[in-house]
Amino acid sequence: MHKLVKYIRKIDYLFLLISVGLIVLQVYLELKIPEYTTELTKFATSTLTTSSDLPEVYKNGGLMLACAVSSMIAGIITSFFISTFSSNLSRRIRDELYKKILTFSNKDIHRFHTASLITRTTNDVVQIQNFASMGVQLLIKAPTMAIWGICKISATKLSWTMAALIAVGIIVIAVTIAVIVCLPRFKKIQKLTDSLNAQARENITGVRVIRAFNAEKYQDVKYEKINKDITDNNMITSKTMGLISPIMSFVMNSLILAIYWLGVVIINDIKVDNQNMMQAMAERGEIVANMIAFTSYAMQIIMAFIMLIMIFIILPRTIVSTKRINEVLDTKPSIVDGNLNDEKVTEQGVVSLKNVSFSYYDDEHYALKDINLDINKGETVAIIGPTGCGKSTLVNLMMRFYDISIGEIDVDGHNVKDYKLNDLRKRFSLATQKAMLFKGTIKDNIALGVDEKDIDENKINEVLDIASCEFVNNLEKKENSEVSQGGSNYSGGQKQRISIARTLYKDSEIMIFDDTFSALDYKTDFDVRKKIKENLKDKTVIIIAQRIGTIKNADKIVVMEDGHIDAIGTHEQLLKESKVYQEIALSQLSKEEL
Ligand code: ADP
Ligand code: MG
Repeated sequence: MHKLVKYIRKIDYLFLLISVGLIVLQVYLELKIPEYTTELTKFATSTLTTSSDLPEVYKNGGLMLACAVSSMIAGIITSFFISTFSSNLSRRIRDELYKKILTFSNKDIHRFHTASLITRTTNDVVQIQNFASMGVQLLIKAPTMAIWGICKISATKLSWTMAALIAVGIIVIAVTIAVIVCLPRFKKIQKLTDSLNAQARENITGVRVIRAFNAEKYQDVKYEKINKDITDNNMITSKTMGLISPIMSFVMNSLILAIYWLGVVIINDIKVDNQNMMQAMAERGEIVANMIAFTSYAMQIIMAFIMLIMIFIILPRTIVSTKRINEVLDTKPSIVDGNLNDEKVTEQGVVSLKNVSFSYYDDEHYALKDINLDINKGETVAIIGPTGCGKSTLVNLMMRFYDISIGEIDVDGHNVKDYKLNDLRKRFSLATQKAMLFKGTIKDNIALGVDEKDIDENKINEVLDIASCEFVNNLEKKENSEVSQGGSNYSGGQKQRISIARTLYKDSEIMIFDDTFSALDYKTDFDVRKKIKENLKDKTVIIIAQRIGTIKNADKIVVMEDGHIDAIGTHEQLLKESKVYQEIALSQLSKEEL
């Protein structure tokens, strides 16, 4: 938990310091109250023999009330300070987590899983906030109260003190057992919450597919299993913790009974006869007063132990959550900036891969094997090959979404690992295979990451035209039309065209279209490519495609199969030389067309 201490600010320490002072004051005041009760009881018992001094009663009563009111005010102020502290703390931790997660590479995210990262930024942070608000108060109040209270009663009758100690002992044992039973389960619950979130996310995002395949039952069973697991664990922890409260009441009541019983025995021992009548009565009165005071203190001490128990309920969960949060914060992003000064880079639009091999899991299963490829400035390079042969992986590596284990990738004459990530990625405009739209407007999506005031309206219209986004003109608000999360209010082809427009808007020296044209019908595919060719004359263009028609005219066609390059050449060359290319071509065009 000490690692999270650095998120506490100076002002928080001031708040905490004041709160500690106020809590100690509160304990002082609360422990002061039984002293006045003793005085009042003494008056009450003395009225049995003489008439009492009423102004004294008013004085003690008034002081008692003053203590109660002051203690309440101190409590309210403490709550105010502590709430401010804990809310700010949780905000800072959430911020820090979010910033950290944004630096994660695909591999890092994969290690934690998206759902777990979300639970960690929400649920786990709430646990810490709860501890900061409740736990801190209890942690100071409970021991102060317990120790101070014990000091106050230790001077009184030994038998009473023994009774109180036995009560405390029983409570401590009960709590220890409860904590031992619950601790491992708290850990499990947090993990299961991750799984539950992951399953719920999958079920909700994939609801249409699930319905289409009548797979509701199948998916429900998976969800139910995790849900039941969580419930079972929650049930055990709640039931165990639930036992504590009745045990506590029983112990408290038994203690009162014990104190009174022992008190009566002591009182009985003071013999009253005619000679010492007055003195004996006074003595007995004193014991009754002490008994009442002792009971109050004993109850407060027990309350202090109840508070300690509450800490034991919150603390284990907090420790688990803290660990989970620290795991994220301590993760060093696997892909970090190099130190290359961007101004030193003189070339443009050149990519070179030398003996590159890559595996997603750092094992023997290579997604790419021994790739050698040179892409020159202004070239249009096409990559073709069956699905799963590693085409997308190849461009992901150029942009350093993953680091390669063997070989070297140079962009504009420098190793990709030397670049600052922003400098490297600004050299590429990528249209991803799966068009990814974000909540906002079409314009926001096209000028992604550009400030509203810097958006070039003319350029937006231009790229919309090149990407054949005529459908945007038919929308009521044109490019200002709403896009829902994930772009779910547009068709696959429309999303793909907006994504192409976005890539064109970024206008980098290297433009990559990863299978972006296959979601378009043949005519649109043809139109878009024609316009792109006219507009991107001196850019380096990498087109990944399935259709021979899409890539026929490329300067260089790379034929891939099963993670390696089969052949590189022009359409005509490959038709003669590459068996794989011939097969692809034959499957799409007739012999005559070829
Ligand atoms: P293509 O784009 O040619 O269809 P990919 O480059 O997407 O193929 O995938 C190449 C291989 O790498 C496939 O076998 C696929 O299963 C694997 N792969 C792709 N992405 C990942 C990933 N994020 N994690 C693990 N394996 C992956
Ligand atoms: Mg792909």
